[in-house]
Amino acid sequence: MNYRKLPKIELHRHLDASIRIGTVYELARKHNINVNAATLAELDHKITIRKPMKNLEDVLHSFLTTQKVLVSYEGIKRVAFENVEDCFLEGIKLVELRFAPVYIAKDKKLGFDEIIEGVIDGITEGMIKYDIQVGLLHIMPRSLDLKQNIQSTEDILRYRKSSHKNADRLVGIDLADLETPESFVDYAPSIARAKKEGMGVTIHSGEDSTALNVKKTIEVYGADRIGHGIQIAKSPEIIRFVKERDIALEVCPTSNWLTQCVKKIEQHPLKFLFDQGVKVTLNSDDPQIMGIDLVHEYEVAEKLGLKKEELIQMNKWALEKSFFPEDIKKRSMKFFT
Ligand SMILES: [Zn+2]
Repeated sequence: MNYRKLPKIELHRHLDASIRIGTVYELARKHNINVNAATLAELDHKITIRKPMKNLEDVLHSFLTTQKVLVSYEGIKRVAFENVEDCFLEGIKLVELRFAPVYIAKDKKLGFDEIIEGVIDGITEGMIKYDIQVGLLHIMPRSLDLKQNIQSTEDILRYRKSSHKNADRLVGIDLADLETPESFVDYAPSIARAKKEGMGVTIHSGEDSTALNVKKTIEVYGADRIGHGIQIAKSPEIIRFVKERDIALEVCPTSNWLTQCVKKIEQHPLKFLFDQGVKVTLNSDDPQIMGIDLVHEYEVAEKLGLKKEELIQMNKWALEKSFFPEDIKKRSMKFFT
C-alpha cells in the first residue's frame, strides 16, 4: 500500500542527523570544509549507511562528517527548513525533531543561541510554507561534555521563555548515546529542572542495553516516553511495568537493524510489543544518514506483520504522547477519526 499518503505523526527524528547529502556537499564547498569526497556521489557513498555497520567508528565517521558542515546560523536554518520540507513530503502532519546544541557546537566557534535560533527560524519557515506542526526536543549526548550539556539545557530553558517567534516549540528534553551508570546520576538534576518547567521527557534507553535500564530510566528521570526501548521485549516483567506506567516507545526498526541492536530485520520485536499492548510508535531516527525515510519504515512494519489499522493505532498513540500542548494536538486529531 502507498504509505506516503497515510497521515503520520513522528516523535523520534534527529534533525542534525537528517541533512540532505546535497546540502552537506554544498555547505562543505561553501565553507571550504574537507569532507574527503571529490564528488556528491562519492560523499553519498561514504556517509550514507545502507547495510549493518561493522563497528561504531564507521557510524561516527558519517555523523561527524555531517556535523562538520553546520558552521553558521544560515546553514543550520537551511537544514532545519529542509528537515520540515522532507517531513511534509513523507506525509507527516506533526513531528518532533530533536537536536543536540553541544554536538553541533563541538570544535567550533558557534554559540548556543546561534544554533537554537537557526533551528527555530528554520522550522518556522517550514511551518509557514507547509501545513505541518513541528516541535523541538533538546538532546544532551551522554558521550559529550557534562558541563556543556548542563549549560545547554539552561540555555534552552532560558530561550523557550524568550519572545523569539516559536521559542515555545522547544517542548521536550532527551539523553542520547550509550547509557552509563554515572549518567543516571549526572543528568538527573538537569532533566528534573526541565520537567518542572513543563518540558516532556524522552530518553534513549534499551536500544542496545537492557530492559532493566528502561525501568531505571522511567524511575530516575520520570521519562514520559522511551527512545527505542526494544530490549523490554526480553522481559515480561518490564513490559508489564512499561504498560502500568503508560509509557510509549519510539521504535525505529531500520536504525535498530543498521546498528545491529537486532541482528535481522525479521527479528525486530515491533509487532510482538504491539501485540503485548505496549504503546509503540513508528519512527525513522536518522533518515538521511541511514538512506531511508518514514514511508520506508511503514513498509518495513508491514513486512513485520502490522496491518494498516494497527499502524493507524500507533499514530493515535504518537499523537496522544506528543509533547505538544493539547490545543495543537487536537487540531491533528482530524487525521485519525
Ligand atoms: Zn535516536
